Amino acid sequence: MRLRFAPSPTGYVHVGNARTALFNYLHAKKHGGKLILRIEDTDIERSKKEYEEILINDFKWLGIEWDEGPDTGGGYGPYRQSERLDLYREIAHKLLDEGKAYYCFCTPEELEQERKEALSKGLPPKYSGKCRNIPPEVAKKRVESGEKAVIRFKMPQDKDFSYNDVIRGKISFDLSLFGDFVILRSNGLPAYNFAVVVDDHYMKVDLVIRGEDHISNTPKQIKIYEALGWTPPEFGHLSMVLGPDGSPLSKRHGATSLNQFKSMGYLPEALLNYLAMLGWAPPEDNEILSKEKLIKFFDVRKVSKSGAIFDYSKLNWVNRKHIAALNSIEIIKRAEEFLVKEGYINSLKELDEMSLKWLSDAIDGIKTNIVTLVDVPEELKIFFEYSHSKEAFEELKEEGGEEVLNFMKEFFKGKGHIDIKDIYSLIGEAKKKGLKGKALFHPMRIIFTGKSSGIELDKFLEIMTKTEGLKFKKTPLSLKERLEEAEKLLVK
Ligand code: GLU
Repeated sequence: MRLRFAPSPTGYVHVGNARTALFNYLHAKKHGGKLILRIEDTDIERSKKEYEEILINDFKWLGIEWDEGPDTGGGYGPYRQSERLDLYREIAHKLLDEGKAYYCFCTPEELEQERKEALSKGLPPKYSGKCRNIPPEVAKKRVESGEKAVIRFKMPQDKDFSYNDVIRGKISFDLSLFGDFVILRSNGLPAYNFAVVVDDHYMKVDLVIRGEDHISNTPKQIKIYEALGWTPPEFGHLSMVLGPDGSPLSKRHGATSLNQFKSMGYLPEALLNYLAMLGWAPPEDNEILSKEKLIKFFDVRKVSKSGAIFDYSKLNWVNRKHIAALNSIEIIKRAEEFLVKEGYINSLKELDEMSLKWLSDAIDGIKTNIVTLVDVPEELKIFFEYSHSKEAFEELKEEGGEEVLNFMKEFFKGKGHIDIKDIYSLIGEAKKKGLKGKALFHPMRIIFTGKSSGIELDKFLEIMTKTEGLKFKKTPLSLKERLEEAEKLLVK
């Protein structure tokens, strides 16, 4: 079983294309087959080498692995269309020699004129076939004398043509609506419909899973296979990925490309898991699945043919579940770039064991709030800064927070570092004065954290009494400093 995905390096990878690649990957792996990455870069104006590098990195980040491709090599290369031009030329000339294709000299202006006339008569705009009638020897001479020409394929005109789509079942077409189409341009570059057939044939592809925008190309491709006496692969066309409003997912809906989701802190395994569910449902509603499980359960024949809505909140839910399954050290590792960006660390390597342990305890305290990795530094702020809430301080004033604050200040006077034993004795002393329960702990929470809810207070204090000697680029705000901050806010 050999499958391929064939992106054009003309931009960042859209999640719709990532899903196509993923379904090919899952099917190939499930059947012990091979997956090929082919770069379709014959649109020389729009294709860029840097996009090829980006797409290779982004697909790898997502966890899609291919057995053959421009970076890995393989026995059926080269894997960039721009490196296969001689082959396309050779096959186009074979069709020409066999009378299954012909040179066409029509200019763009003539073609445009023809198109307009057809439309004005209410006819479908298809090429008239004008140059079909030029005797081949005459056409050849014109080309040899330097006249510009494209090569067109003589499209058979079956009224009742159909093929069996593995996802959609039988699809029928009236081929008399299809004109003779270009297979080789005058600059020697192949047209998509032609190159793809030559490549899928020589790369021995058995099944093509791709987007539904290619359904109308499929009869053209099958007819080229037939003309060359080749067996076509099977085809399966996936529905479009839609935005929440039902139109094709685009920038105006939010993030659309792999690199955006990566920089927003989604875990690759979560995005992969979510993409797999766009148009396919795992058995028994077991939605949180590893790649191995997806491979095990995936069935291309169960893929839906109706449009798949990209639901950002569902993706968040999936991401949250995958984060919850990681231990804190793993979360720190995954969030390194975000911690660096927010100025907490220079790199993880620089952290000593004690600091790493402290950070992992801190993460444990806020883990349930993390939706994406971007939230890691955000949620850690509570330990490093004093980002207070105004409402909490209003509450504090009303609840006689001043008394608690003064008591605490007095108690900790002259103390350098506050450790957990100091907290216990503070609580003991307060109790003697009749200050206990909510009347003590709620103000204390606001004074230390700046907020009236969030992380459990005892967890927070346990972490904050262990900040001595930590080696972060940004220093956590000590409990003593927090008392001062709270005082400033209370007098205000
Ligand atoms: N390069 C084409 C695309 O990105 C591939 C289509 C195909 O899979 O045949 O849409």
